[in-house]
Amino acid sequence: MSERTEIEVERPLATESPLLAELGKTLEKHLNSRETFAVEAVNSLIETAEKLGASDLHLVPESRDGMLVSRFRINGVLQPGPRVPLAANVISRLKVISGLLTYRTDVPQEGRVKSRGTQLQKDVSEIRVSTFPTLHGEKAVVRFFIGSEEFRFVRDLGLSDDVTSGIEQSLGETSGLFLICGPAGSGKTTTAYALLRELQNTAYGIRNICTLEDPVEAEIAGISQSQVKIDSGLTYQLGLRSLMRQDPDVIFVGEIRDRETAEIVFQAALTGHLVLSTFHAASVAEAISRLTDMDVEPYVLRSALMGVLAQRLLRRICQCMQNRQEACPECNGLGYSGRFAIAEFLRPQSASISREILDRSDAREINAAALKSGMISLVQRALSAVEQGETTLSECARVLGPCVFSNDNAPTISPDP
Ligand SMILES: [Zn+2]
Repeated sequence: MSERTEIEVERPLATESPLLAELGKTLEKHLNSRETFAVEAVNSLIETAEKLGASDLHLVPESRDGMLVSRFRINGVLQPGPRVPLAANVISRLKVISGLLTYRTDVPQEGRVKSRGTQLQKDVSEIRVSTFPTLHGEKAVVRFFIGSEEFRFVRDLGLSDDVTSGIEQSLGETSGLFLICGPAGSGKTTTAYALLRELQNTAYGIRNICTLEDPVEAEIAGISQSQVKIDSGLTYQLGLRSLMRQDPDVIFVGEIRDRETAEIVFQAALTGHLVLSTFHAASVAEAISRLTDMDVEPYVLRSALMGVLAQRLLRRICQCMQNRQEACPECNGLGYSGRFAIAEFLRPQSASISREILDRSDAREINAAALKSGMISLVQRALSAVEQGETTLSECARVLGPCVFSNDNAPTISPDP
């Protein structure tokens, strides 16, 4: 193995991390008062998660010893935190502040934190709680919605210039479907919002921009945003049909989940609307072949699909890991600080891709045609990020799978200095 891989070993959250040390001390300090412990524990767990920039806090009872194991998801990776005593009291307190039924411990519940007596950190716009019964008692996941102030417009996403200008070109179109693809947690929504802000900024007052989302994650001034509400019958299908009568120019559909939604989305894209949506698919080629599998007619797909972006988030290597120094406060000893996006992008209307679509080719064949037509793949993007010292090979393998180590990719990895 090369020298570089030696420093890529995943570091656990450093025990000397001041934030976690403080959390441990706070938990210990309040242990002598059973009455106030749960309140203080929940407050300090949430505060610590916010300070660490965690997207999720997990509290899991792993045995019947009354302890919760805490974990924090930071930049996409779960990191261990301290064990928390009085499990049932702590979960119960969490349920109180998020409006859940404390006496129901046998069913999953979802709520949002309304008030916990202290201010939310400035980046956190909302906190949601989900509980789930397990063999050893209830577990809870607390999700933090972090406002993406730093990724406001397309240029801020930090994608390569060719991808950025491809996106900008697509946004200038007046009809067609632009899809943002990737697995859960790959930053699709952040990208979608950047595109919407861009559209609103460049077409102020000229284009009627409407959205149907589940849920609305950030407000954008000047855009009519709506939220799916299953209880009252406002489904994607119903909402989209009604939206079409609102004279829209641009429609953002939160996600294409089923055939019915896909049908309306493609119809809208074919009838003079610019439609943006997200789609759960690993790559551009997989997105195209999965849409065919969802019974979207190949000729509809070929005519309507105007741009497909597939993206991933990679953790950015911290100076301390790069320079093999001691764990530093910048990354809380994790070796990575923040994330950046990489993407593959295709405008599928070239002759060769059209043919693959009409032939109902599988993802592998579509991918080969896309690469031939000049698309730079996610793996290639990831490897050049490694070359530029922005991230590590192990991080690429974590996100994209061991395929990054395949022999086909070997020549693009430069030797270590
Ligand atoms: Zn560091």
